[in-house]
Amino acid sequence: MAHGNVILSAMLDAPTIAAARKAIAAARAAGRTIGFVPTMGALHAGHVSLIDRCRADGCFTVVSIFVNPTQFGPNEDLSRYPRTWEADRAACDRAGVDVVFAPTAEEMYPPGEQTRVRPGRLADALCGPFRPGHFEGVCTVVAKLFNIVLPDVAYFGQKDAQQAVIIRRMVNDLAMPVRIVTCPLIRDADGLALSSRNALLTPADRAQALALYRALCTGRDALLRGETSVGRIIAAMRNAVVQNAGSAAIDYLSLVDPETLEPAALPCPRVLIAGAIRLGGVRLIDNLTVEIPSPTP
Ligand code: AMP
Repeated sequence: MAHGNVILSAMLDAPTIAAARKAIAAARAAGRTIGFVPTMGALHAGHVSLIDRCRADGCFTVVSIFVNPTQFGPNEDLSRYPRTWEADRAACDRAGVDVVFAPTAEEMYPPGEQTRVRPGRLADALCGPFRPGHFEGVCTVVAKLFNIVLPDVAYFGQKDAQQAVIIRRMVNDLAMPVRIVTCPLIRDADGLALSSRNALLTPADRAQALALYRALCTGRDALLRGETSVGRIIAAMRNAVVQNAGSAAIDYLSLVDPETLEPAALPCPRVLIAGAIRLGGVRLIDNLTVEIPSPTP
């Protein structure tokens, strides 16, 4: 199929910045809108939903696959993070991706590099205290990827709600000419949020993993019943985790404002309920946004 003077053909593998820039520049010159989906690979239906949205929006679709070392702490799971390049490549091809940019760590962080993008207060909430430096690594790599891809629009998942809010802030604060689209969180049939890290769970831990979603639902139901004590809601949520996952360690269960990530001041119209637990060394996050109808007079 011809689009302007670019012939749409097989997906291009771009292992270098130069190769990615060249292919994307040709599409841009042909008048295409450039859509970008940054990922760390081990692709699942959540990632594919972002790609589908990007394609449905009519974009020339660029996916990056890069396990970014600067967003992992020294005691985190960088070395055992799932890497499934062949399957990822095939999934991108099936989904109709135009360019897969899969650089090496040396390509992204050549010797001598030292510049970082440091987010502000938003990075102190939720996951921030448990993953020092994580969002600085995320902002740095996303800023660099944006400079390579120069997307018109970039797609992020609500699965990483805090990340999406921080990226929006960064794009505004640094006047980056990119539109950010946040896409819905995709779950497994039983409700577990899809995550590349789910592949690291033992069958026993997979069975307990649902405790986090159950806890979020407990919080949502309490809010919708009109409960206005944050303390009581969080106690009920903690209890739900303990009941359903005896061996889980809770990093946090929080009710925050979806935009500022400040603690929710109830009653209020919208609350982001977010949590992180650890099961056998695998860290899982999940969240729900709750719209609370105003009480009828
Ligand atoms: P990751 O590969 O984990 O860095 O994720 C890449 C992108 O996919 C991020 O924008 C994530 O928020 C998004 N994503 C990951 N899991 C899901 C999911 N279950 N539903 C929707 N988006 C997701």
